Amino acid sequence: NSSTTKSGLTFDIQPSDQRRTPQERAALLDNPGFGNVFTDHMVTIRYTEGKGWYDARVEPYAPLSFDPASANLHYAQEIFEGLKAYRHPDGTIACFRPEANAARMNRSARRMAMPELDEELFTGAIEALLGQDADWVPSQEDSSLYLRPFMFATDVGLGVNHPSRSYMFVLIASPSGPYFSGGIKPVSVWLSEDYTRAAPGGTGEAKFAGNYAASFVAQAQALEQGCDQVVWLDGVEHRWVEEMGGMNLFFVFGSGDGARLRTPALTGTLLPGVTRDSLLTLAPEFGIPVEEGRISTDEWRSAAESGELTEVFACGTAAVITPVGYVKSSHGEFRIGDGTPGPVTMRLREELVGIQYGSRPDTHGWIRDM
Ligand code: PMP
Repeated sequence: NSSTTKSGLTFDIQPSDQRRTPQERAALLDNPGFGNVFTDHMVTIRYTEGKGWYDARVEPYAPLSFDPASANLHYAQEIFEGLKAYRHPDGTIACFRPEANAARMNRSARRMAMPELDEELFTGAIEALLGQDADWVPSQEDSSLYLRPFMFATDVGLGVNHPSRSYMFVLIASPSGPYFSGGIKPVSVWLSEDYTRAAPGGTGEAKFAGNYAASFVAQAQALEQGCDQVVWLDGVEHRWVEEMGGMNLFFVFGSGDGARLRTPALTGTLLPGVTRDSLLTLAPEFGIPVEEGRISTDEWRSAAESGELTEVFACGTAAVITPVGYVKSSHGEFRIGDGTPGPVTMRLREELVGIQYGSRPDTHGWIRDM
């Protein structure tokens, strides 16, 4: 039993004999939260140096087992991606810019001395999984199927002088409900001066698992400070704003026809978000100029206090666009605007969500039918 994707790749299909019933699935899709519920199948593909990628399969979602000396458990060669499949009004399923995630995964792979994967294999894996699990793409408003492709080292042995020579790519999928139940609420952020996420020459621009492992202690500190999220500063001067937990940041200066945006430039230490990149294109089309530059914590505070800075929002695949209403650091705290979601934030959010869910025209070729 095999299936050939639109891109001409063949996946061996091993259908699960433990598929959830339509009733069970409906119950799980009713209020799935984020990242807790998984579909009936997963994709696995193997890689060995000299042989390339092989043995592409769709198989029942199940635990993986490893030799205790597997390289991934010791030296953390593990990268991942995150994107979504959306149910469009006509019932079809679409992804948003999957080729951008495929390209980013390959950039992460190069940084971690891991093998690259053809874009066709990346998108083919999504098509093959949806071939079995399409019914798991929710049709409820603001819900979607979150796709989590990842890749890790599978060599057995503790030698640390060279990267692994074998790898596994896995794709799993998790239905996700509305990020904001009960309306969009601005988040509060803690500026982390004690911890550094990334340094020049480090791994900050890769979607590398270790970046996230290193972030939990700072996120815990943010929560202790009564804030929702940590904001990372540059690792050298602890002065320039980089990004929020798992989202990029945009600053809105001025208002009405004079509104303009600034977002931290990609200096190599922050993750190049697909949502960030999409907003760099969309905002100017609404007459809102965007600048990639830098912003210090001092400027953030003084511009918020003078009223020149009118809105701040974070953006990423999971929550799309989230307003930031309140900022706290060891030097004090301040509010952005009146603490409610601002008009630029909400307008960009509506447009982007509209394109993703198929209620607004896709004039950029960002939507890929699956
Ligand atoms: N920064 C970090 C650290 C992230 O993990 C993410 C989520 N991938 C983002 C920014 C936003 O990226 P994207 O818009 O591609 O989801």
